[in-house]
Amino acid sequence: MPPINHATITQDVLRPTLVEVNLARLAENLRAIRQKVAPAKVMTILKANAYGHGLVEVARWMEQQGADYLGVAYLEEGLLLRQNGIRLPVLVLGGIIGNQVPLFLQNDLTLTASSLEKLEQIESAAAQLGLPARVHLKIDTGMERIGVHYYSAAGLLEASLKCKHCLIEGIYSHFANADAADLSHARLQLERFNEVLRFYERRSLPAPLRHIANSAGILQLPESYFDLARPGILLYGVYPSPEASRTVAVRPALSWKSRVVYFKVVLPGHPVSYGSTWQSDHPVRVVTVPVGYGDGYFRSLSGKAQVLINGRQYPVIGRICMDQMMVNLEMGSAYNGDEVILLGEAGGAAITVEHLAEWAGTIPYEILTNINTRVPRVYLQG
Ligand SMILES: *Cc1c(COP(=O)(O)O)cnc(C)c1O
Repeated sequence: MPPINHATITQDVLRPTLVEVNLARLAENLRAIRQKVAPAKVMTILKANAYGHGLVEVARWMEQQGADYLGVAYLEEGLLLRQNGIRLPVLVLGGIIGNQVPLFLQNDLTLTASSLEKLEQIESAAAQLGLPARVHLKIDTGMERIGVHYYSAAGLLEASLKCKHCLIEGIYSHFANADAADLSHARLQLERFNEVLRFYERRSLPAPLRHIANSAGILQLPESYFDLARPGILLYGVYPSPEASRTVAVRPALSWKSRVVYFKVVLPGHPVSYGSTWQSDHPVRVVTVPVGYGDGYFRSLSGKAQVLINGRQYPVIGRICMDQMMVNLEMGSAYNGDEVILLGEAGGAAITVEHLAEWAGTIPYEILTNINTRVPRVYLQG
């Protein structure tokens, strides 16, 4: 089935569930982050469909807003950016598999060399194809994910000086706990990173672009900015943890909305939804909303989540289905077609990503990245 071109179908004939992305907010957040980390440059992180906001659209907007660099997790994400005409440099942060290297080179995507073996694979593919490879070296300073350990990094750095077909453009690491109140592990990682970087000083060589700061580093560790900062969640207006100090003011850019499609009165003794887990002992007004766990509205939100209808907060009742869920209005009123806010603001009230994360027993990152691509994204400039 070809994708629906939402521009050619008026919204009112489609399922009325959508995500609104406020581009102006994204621009404001980027500006606030740039100001905070200057003179360091900014690599905006767009992995996982730009944290649910839409990879290509956000990349285009970031390009227009003068972002310096883009970061994604996988080769596929980088390829999608190139296929859609994005020209900014794109670093693929994840580990690479040897046979992927030619695609990186042919599409001018920047590679992460996370081991000596991977650097050698990159160098030999670049030599073979006669194409230059842009490379960032990855140092593991205390995450144990990918990267050469800080205590044996010298070998990788030494080898990188000898690569004839690689442009060693950057060197980076990643924090495990920069979002905590206790920053001792993050500081230890910083110390280890600085020690690795002394390799260049000792040889009187200029270091390539040095970077380690994620959103939490940007908020809590100014000494981690180096040449480039890598904001992800903060760009989208969400703070990485409740503990992290909020030294940059950002606001959420994403709202998730639907509309009432069914209204009824539910009588006592008539349980609601699968498993019959919820019932009332008095008649209540209940509406059905066309959104469910198949859209990424987690089933674990059943019996926990609240939504906004006409400026008032109401509970989701019974089990959330794949494509539908029920909301208890008690004696409140709503009509078919009334807006239901799953995530976002209305009047003085708001349902935040943090609320949803808490109700679902997870973190804001997981809420955002799980909003399914079945939900159309609509972009607002104003
Ligand atoms: C995801 C990621 C980031 C961004 O993390 P946030 O916490 O969202 O700012 C930065 N660097 C790397 C290597 C990442 O994987």
